[in-house]
Amino acid sequence: MAKKSVEKNEQMEKIVALCKRKGFVFPACEIYGGFANAYSYGPYGAELKNNIKRLWWKKFVDGREDMVGLDGPILLHPKLWEASGHLGGFNDAMIDCKNCKMRYRADNLISEVLGIDLEGKLDEMTKTISEKIKCPNCGKQDWTEARFFNMMFKTEMNGIDEPVYLRPETAGAIFVDFKNVVDSCRVKVPFGIGQIGKAFRNEIVARNFIFRVREFEQMEIEYFISPEAEWEPMFDRWLETQEEFARELGAKPEDLKRYEHPKEKLSHYSRKTVDIEYNFPFGFSELFGLAHRGDFDLSQHQKFSGTNLEYLDQASGKKYLPHVLEPTFGVDRCVLMALSAAYAEEEVGEGDVRTVLKFPPAIAPIKVAVFPLLKNKPELVAKAREIFDDLRGEIKCEFDDNGNVGKRYRRQDEIGTPYCVTVDFDTLETGEVTVRGRDTMQQEKVKVEELKNWVKEKIS
Ligand code: ATP
Repeated sequence: MAKKSVEKNEQMEKIVALCKRKGFVFPACEIYGGFANAYSYGPYGAELKNNIKRLWWKKFVDGREDMVGLDGPILLHPKLWEASGHLGGFNDAMIDCKNCKMRYRADNLISEVLGIDLEGKLDEMTKTISEKIKCPNCGKQDWTEARFFNMMFKTEMNGIDEPVYLRPETAGAIFVDFKNVVDSCRVKVPFGIGQIGKAFRNEIVARNFIFRVREFEQMEIEYFISPEAEWEPMFDRWLETQEEFARELGAKPEDLKRYEHPKEKLSHYSRKTVDIEYNFPFGFSELFGLAHRGDFDLSQHQKFSGTNLEYLDQASGKKYLPHVLEPTFGVDRCVLMALSAAYAEEEVGEGDVRTVLKFPPAIAPIKVAVFPLLKNKPELVAKAREIFDDLRGEIKCEFDDNGNVGKRYRRQDEIGTPYCVTVDFDTLETGEVTVRGRDTMQQEKVKVEELKNWVKEKIS
């Protein structure tokens, strides 16, 4: 099969179109003209996303003795955001074009147009943009001042006098329950708490499809270690495990790279921060992050809450505030990465091109599709239904009797189904079905009674 080369920016358009056409991702509230560059996950997208989250939980929580899980609230005590620094410092700089009213994130505009990094320096950003940059939308050079904007969504709660915020990251809920977890579960440092959940950021510009949205999901870990521990090897292991997870979702090693934040740009409490970047259709951008946050979070929450959060090391009798390594993962960016890594166009005959999503089977929304060869032969339909009913209790399957088998293969290729099973007249005589593999397009015969185990083995 010849791979057709698809230009990167063309690839993004094709992925967005396929997502809509095949029910992976829809623009939110489309019947009302769309809303805020937000998206809904359609039936196959929801499966894909859930499979990614399940795989993560299995790898990072169930699969490890040193990890436990948590599911904290989205609306948390407002004091928490004061303690964490989000209320005072979770700001991005924005700037508006006075002519066309287009709004930009000032630091991004500068780095994209001039390739320099002025993050955090408001006056310099205003000066640089007014002197050197034309509005990419209308071409005029007439700007407002750059100004900071807090990215937390504010809301109200009955009985609470002050504003309440939608959490901008899931981590806060972990820190405030650190003591509860230590007191209720038999965890010993080093150990971690993992959590999956929604986070909300009032991004100045939501863009690049589901890469940057205002409501998204994170999978975060706070890994608590002794302040005296040799942390570098642990940090490196976390990075390797994060990259391994990306590869399990289909990323090619050459599409992953690390970006270490320069020392002078680190927060005062961080010893090291590394982003794991993926080569998205729009270029390398942050997929995951890993930060050494010292004891900043626990000590801030201890200070602001007045509750002692020290950990008692039973073996040494010493009390201390653990330090923390924070591996963090964006679910929506994982979905986009999985789609980008899986997307392929292949020439399968003279002028005949198939679009295929080559997902690793573990994350494919549908694992098996079952077809009767002919729709109008009740004995074939009945047998195919029987096989489908037997599989679907344990394996995510789809039944399809519409159109010719070639078309049905193409439909399943486009949603990334690893195997298609066809029931034909031979099946009724020999008890064998034809199984066609998505990637090889090869067919093989499998006995009906062995089919379920055969599939399970292939997709595990
Ligand atoms: P960026 O620099 O791209 O804004 P960040 O460094 O602010 O990201 P973190 O605060 O480290 O991101 O958040 C952890 C993870 O959450 C990121 O690695 C990313 O996968 C995801 N994430 C952050 N912001 C968004 C967003 N607006 N939309 C989708 N995912 C996001």
